Parts: sequence; structure tokens; C-alpha cells
Amino acid sequence: MASFVIPTPPVVSLPIMETNSLFPVRRVYCIGRNYGAHAIEMGHNPTKEPPFFFQKNPNNLNCSGIFIYPPNSNEVHYEAELAIMLKSGGTNISVDHALDNIYGYAPSLDMTRRDLQSAQKKLGRPWEIGKAFEHSAPVGLIHPVEKVGHPTTGELSMKVNGAEVQKGNLSQMIWKVPEIISYLSIYFELAAGDVILSGTPAGVGPITIGDLMEVKIGNLKSLTVKVITEEI
Ligand code: MN
Repeated sequence: MASFVIPTPPVVSLPIMETNSLFPVRRVYCIGRNYGAHAIEMGHNPTKEPPFFFQKNPNNLNCSGIFIYPPNSNEVHYEAELAIMLKSGGTNISVDHALDNIYGYAPSLDMTRRDLQSAQKKLGRPWEIGKAFEHSAPVGLIHPVEKVGHPTTGELSMKVNGAEVQKGNLSQMIWKVPEIISYLSIYFELAAGDVILSGTPAGVGPITIGDLMEVKIGNLKSLTVKVITEEI
């Protein structure tokens, strides 16, 4: 059997509530502008657009409870989002069967170097340097479907240092979770281990070193993340 010529990269894995078991990650998809009020605040018309997606890297996921302020940006924004973890997948998944593929849900943050993203947008270039940087996707505990069902309503609240800065409801998603999965599966083969960030409501804004971020979504345990200046 062939051996590897370099050390094998670690499997990225996420913790699950009330268990020592871990969820292994394969891919990370993110939907853009999935709440009307956020689309408007970013200067877009939410009624005219089909869904669109970008990706982060699996090892951008971060369940450490700390967010290291990234280099090369002076405008790093929080985006509080519901994350969806898949236990199975496929292509051309129907909306009716989409939920059958979900293992669980978690609160998450789509951290964004907004200044870099805005520059890329102006140039018509990809968003990776604004979106897919190190530690850019803090994630909380995964809540299995068997414990929490499929949350379709529920308040999504984002606080910075105790002050509420985002307040939306899962029911305000333009593209609902089954539709997101179905649409993604037209263009990609989805599979067990895939993670989907489902978009953020209005109120995105900057954080600074020392801030404490808190994401609370419906009945899920909240995600608390401290912004620090460098890796410990
Ligand atoms: Mn986002």
C-alpha cells in the first residue's frame, strides 16, 4: 500500500451536544443574501435574485470559542447564521426529501473581511480572501435533528458585548432550508459531512479586538466567541 509523503491533514470535526462523538466535515457552503432586510442593507433588491453560494474551507470552521482578528483587514464583520450539517446527500434532491439529509443544526458566524470582500465585488472577482480566511467560521454545538427537529421559526439574535445588533427570525429566510439543499444539489453532489451556512439577517457590522460575540438561535444553545489579537 502506498504511504503518504507528508503528514496527512487532520480531519476537521465539530462537537455534538451531550455526547463525546464528533461530526466530520467534508465541505462548507454558504448562501448569500438570504434575508431580505440584509440584502437591502447591502444595496441589493432581494426579490429579483436566485440564490447564490460561495464556499469556505472545512478547516476555516472554528469551535474554539475564540476568533483571532485576521490580518490584512480593518473592517471585519460578524454575520450570525444557522448552520446545517448533512448526514447524506446526492444530486437533484427534491425539496420534499431535502430534510431527510440533515443530521443537525448549530449556531454559527460567517466572519467576513468586508473591506476585502467589497474590493473584490467591485472588481467582479471571487470572494475567498474576504470570506474563506483562517478561523472565519466559528460554530457552536451541533444539535441533532432527533433532539431539536427542524427549526423553521425561531429568533436569531446576535449580540456584541451584550448589545443586540442583529435580530431576525428563521422564518424570514428567502430560500428555506429544503430549498437551499435542493438548489445546491443541482450544481454540486452533496454528501455526508457537508455544512451549509444559511445566511444572515440585517444588522451586520464590525467587531474589534476584545469584543464578545454571542449568537442565539431559537432553542439552540448559544455560541459565544471572544475576539482576540493573536493565536494563543
Ligand atoms: Mn453570510
